[in-house]
Amino acid sequence: MSVAIMGAGLSGLSCAITLEKYGIRPTIFEDRNMVGDRFVNCETIFNIFNKPINNCLSYFEDNYDIHLEPVSYISKMIIHSKNEVGTIKGNLGISNIRGRHERSFENQLFKQVKSKINFNSKYTYEDLKKEFTHVVLATGDGAYACRLNNYKCDVLANLKGATVEGNFKSDEATTWFNYDFVPKGYAYLIPFSEKEAHIVIAYPDYPENSSKDVNDMWKKFYEQVCKDTSQQLRITDRFQVKDYIMGICDQPKIDTTYFAGNCFGTISPGLGFGQFTAILTGIYAAYDICGIDDYETLTKPLKENYKNSLVLRRTLEELDDSNFDMIVKNLDNKLFDKLIDKLHGDETNFDLLKWVSYALRPWISLK
Ligand SMILES: Cc1cc2nc3c(=O)[nH]c(=O)nc-3n(C[C@H](O)[C@H](O)[C@H](O)COP(=O)(O)OP(=O)(O)OC[C@H]3O[C@@H](n4cnc5c(N)ncnc54)[C@H](O)[C@@H]3O)c2cc1C
Repeated sequence: MSVAIMGAGLSGLSCAITLEKYGIRPTIFEDRNMVGDRFVNCETIFNIFNKPINNCLSYFEDNYDIHLEPVSYISKMIIHSKNEVGTIKGNLGISNIRGRHERSFENQLFKQVKSKINFNSKYTYEDLKKEFTHVVLATGDGAYACRLNNYKCDVLANLKGATVEGNFKSDEATTWFNYDFVPKGYAYLIPFSEKEAHIVIAYPDYPENSSKDVNDMWKKFYEQVCKDTSQQLRITDRFQVKDYIMGICDQPKIDTTYFAGNCFGTISPGLGFGQFTAILTGIYAAYDICGIDDYETLTKPLKENYKNSLVLRRTLEELDDSNFDMIVKNLDNKLFDKLIDKLHGDETNFDLLKWVSYALRPWISLK
């Protein structure tokens, strides 16, 4: 058996680590010249979206011997709508670094991999298919799955972000649901440290947004962040991502070709989380290749999760600023506080996304 992994990101490297544990040395092909060679940004994993798992990093450590260190544990989320501010507190999740940084998740995984990585690879899937018995497509987007007529795109998103200097609490993240500056989207601030944070606007590429100028949205957002954090933040780095594809494969595996990470459809269309599931699909693909379990069966709950998240996205499309004001206003009431405490408690397996999505399905038509 010979295994090629295309892409040395979260899913590809997790796949390699797992294969190695079972005695298979894959060959990894990465088109960049080093692991994580892209802009640095801060991302998050929230426990509430991955129930029944309550602590995602311990889950990888305890079950799959994959070790990842966060930047911080998040214990408070401040949510701004147009006219209201609310907070959610508890064991909410983690923040972590991505990209060209020694502590980025991909670099942490890279240190656990023993197999050879061919950097600056120009190999296509078709080339690898000829040379290897198994190919894991882990290139971070649905392009190959699309080419193989195995992918449905649901949302294209645009993101613009920056690293800023200021004073922050590492365990505190902030989001904005304000359609004045991010129509049908959201914005967030995640600290890297007490002195640096990452600020981002993310909005879907709907026809009504196509005439909007991203620089205008950004300017409004930046002014709002400075106002809400009561500081003049200094921008030290910027990035922009256009047409980030959110969609899912019809089949997670065709013969001996595996679709992992965003190639499978791990990025959730609701709020754009994909890291946890990307790592899982890498591990699951390796399990199938090693004959330990079946990829299609293992990824079934992830497909279900994707569908639930799509319901959330379609619901967000229906809401307006006054709806968000009402939701955010109620976040600080005692009853809601108790409910959130329960949902974030380590003892609960309640899958909020699943049940909210089931409740909303009759009102939301999935195109
Ligand atoms: C700005 C931004 C913010 C995000 N924030 C969050 C967040 O807060 N929480 C969260 O859970 N998720 C977040 N996500 C999504 C998350 O980052 C992805 O879902 C996850 O990284 C997908 O992992 P992957 O293995 O599929 O791809 P990646 O980790 O991106 O790896 C893909 C790798 O394949 C390589 N590659 C591409 N093409 C080829 C080729 N032809 N040949 C060889 N190699 C190739 C790439 O260079 C890269 O190294 C965010 C995404 C973006 C863009």
